[in-house]
Amino acid sequence: MDYTRFPRQRYLSGVTALEPMPRLSKALGGKVELWIKRDDQLPGAGGGNKTRKLEFLLADALAQGADSLITCGAVQSNHCRLTLAWARKEGLDCHFVIEERVPNSYDPKAGGNNFLFNLMGVNSIRTVPGGSKMLDEMQKTADELKKQGKKPYIVPGGGSNAIGALGYVSFVDEFLAQINEMRLKVDHLVVPSGSAGTHAGIIAGLFGNNVSLPVNGMNVSRPKDLQEEMVYKLVCSIAEKLNLPPIPRELVVCDGDFVGEGYSRKTESMKEAILMFAREEGILLDPVYTGKQAAGLIDYVRKGKFAPGSRVVFLHTGGDTALFVYQDFLLS
Ligand SMILES: *Cc1c(COP(=O)(O)O)cnc(C)c1O
Repeated sequence: MDYTRFPRQRYLSGVTALEPMPRLSKALGGKVELWIKRDDQLPGAGGGNKTRKLEFLLADALAQGADSLITCGAVQSNHCRLTLAWARKEGLDCHFVIEERVPNSYDPKAGGNNFLFNLMGVNSIRTVPGGSKMLDEMQKTADELKKQGKKPYIVPGGGSNAIGALGYVSFVDEFLAQINEMRLKVDHLVVPSGSAGTHAGIIAGLFGNNVSLPVNGMNVSRPKDLQEEMVYKLVCSIAEKLNLPPIPRELVVCDGDFVGEGYSRKTESMKEAILMFAREEGILLDPVYTGKQAAGLIDYVRKGKFAPGSRVVFLHTGGDTALFVYQDFLLS
């Protein structure tokens, strides 16, 4: 597709690897061929999926003459870490509003991503209780900065608006070029579904390319219905931005069965998945997103939800910085 009319900073210098996972496939019975797309290895401090979205969001901020970014996230937000990293690269200030989705979970001395926020010298962190209206809270910070003569730009949570999601529309072009080059027929794509920009961008990109590859969204925070509604809303606004014909609602498929008690909450199936990927393939997942997504993948393979002989690609979106905050649980 053509995005040349949208400003874009190029942070990717090539394409991320698409690799087979033969040992994991075998450990799960050998009937399904598992592959992995390594977006955990995207550039940007710590890597991960937000870099694709930030190519478009940072470019939009710069085009508007912004000198400060404001964004929001949870206490161990990968999105906040990467927004800060790219802000530093561009010489912009960066401010966070952190949502305490688990009460009293913000610890200014915590490790993982929080440590990196401080290492990269975040300009300010303000915490708000779980369930706060994050856009309103970020607007408050923006108003404050404007009073100081600054030019703030608000990056939505997870970078998930129609601009940020263009990063995953363009991911589809990269992916299709790659599988065509490798002559690799793919039957399913398994993606994490959180703030929805990744999932929605992929659905819009596949539709725009007239490719009917089934996409399984594995939820990390919400039940099936709520998540599908949220993904589809974003799909529609991407379609509008790109002048695509209406996209069918049925293309959005989410599974909420692997969330456990909620966002960032521990589950046994997440732990098993992280250990399996680490020990069979030497691949590091994360406890909040890809660990639960992989729990879904493993469950589907075991239950025979993918036809025998099918080839399934797992999109690894990064996040391993948070592993170190879950050390005790993962090796208990
Ligand atoms: C943000 C994030 C996701 C979820 O992507 P969304 O576009 O927010 O749905 C998945 N994995 C990791 C590691 C993330 O940081």
